[in-house]
Amino acid sequence: MDTPTKRKRPDLEIRDHRLSQRVQRFPESVIREMTRVAEAHGAINLSQGFPDFDPPREVVRAAQLALENGHNQYSTTWGAPELREAVARRAKAFNGIDADPEANLVVTCGSTEAMMAAMLSLVNPGDEVVVFEPFYENYGPDAVMSGAVPRYVRMAWPDWRIDEEALKAAFSRKTKAVIVNTPNNPTGKVYSRDELRLLADLCADHDAVAVTDEIYEHIVYDGRRHVSLATLGDMAERTITINGLSKTYSATGWRVGWAIAPRTLADAMRRIHDFLTVGAPHPLQIGAAAALALPESYYADLARMYRAKRDRFVRGLRSVGLDCREPDGAYYVMADISRFPFADDWAFAMYLVERLGVATVPGSSFFGVPEDGARYVRFMFSKRDETLEEALRRLEPLKDVR
Ligand code: GLN
Repeated sequence: MDTPTKRKRPDLEIRDHRLSQRVQRFPESVIREMTRVAEAHGAINLSQGFPDFDPPREVVRAAQLALENGHNQYSTTWGAPELREAVARRAKAFNGIDADPEANLVVTCGSTEAMMAAMLSLVNPGDEVVVFEPFYENYGPDAVMSGAVPRYVRMAWPDWRIDEEALKAAFSRKTKAVIVNTPNNPTGKVYSRDELRLLADLCADHDAVAVTDEIYEHIVYDGRRHVSLATLGDMAERTITINGLSKTYSATGWRVGWAIAPRTLADAMRRIHDFLTVGAPHPLQIGAAAALALPESYYADLARMYRAKRDRFVRGLRSVGLDCREPDGAYYVMADISRFPFADDWAFAMYLVERLGVATVPGSSFFGVPEDGARYVRFMFSKRDETLEEALRRLEPLKDVR
């Protein structure tokens, strides 16, 4: 077998004495880096989570019309009124969340900015933030940039169960917030109502805020239902619910996201957002309002489409010897690669991208201690059927790797 390029984990240090300590404490995003590596090798990109198909036509058309019809200057900094109204309507209809567009909504440059704005609004240096692990890569640097000390709670392979005692033990007098992501990236876990209830109790007991990233809310399988933490008990008072256009409407490049929060928290996030970015792209906010007005059938079709992709893709991964559990939601699969003769996740991922032409994300990117994730790589399947078929065909040589 060929030996792939020995690729080290990213180096944290940039040797330049002028830099802040903060920026020396996290690497460049591995997810985004793997997209570039995929392009350099002409590989199929199953690393960064974005589709190779377009948003619905009428949504694109609405954005085009907005460009032609004078929406080319700043919107209100915290969001165009038509988008805030559309988000509030949808949050009520789908999630059961009451949001006043004037008081509770902040439109941001993607949910990425919403999460950062939430952290910067809540956290003083040294405050603790509970984070479930494996976690979406961004939450690590978000913690560093806001000065938060992450307290990790492990979701256990293979079903990503949460140990109740470990969760309770992670909360303390220093806990300021907990970050939840359901449906979960990278595990595919969909938090159960009981798990969310426990979290709600812990937040109440510790006066902690829940920051919940629900960007995959419509991508759930096998009859499961997405539950928004903000709808449990009085959690609306202590929950920031983050969402966006990217995944539900296949528009990751538009960078339109939002947060729903209690008035005081929304006010704080609006300040941070205003001085970070001023606003999300105005014409695309108008397009986003059109997306949120799509009929219910759109969401059923989306879930059905991803369900078929999941079934076929997971079957394919298993047939080449990759050990993985079907995700209950979102469009990622964590595969255990420990039966293959590679030094770690990076060696495996580099072999896949260089020799087989398929890009993945090394599992260590989703763990506080990178070694803890060295037996996984993450695949994502938000791709056309023919792209996924071709990727599976390229992975076939794995059958003979031992
Ligand atoms: N959520 C996507 C992923 O995990 C990527 C999002 C991003 O790159 N901003 O791959």
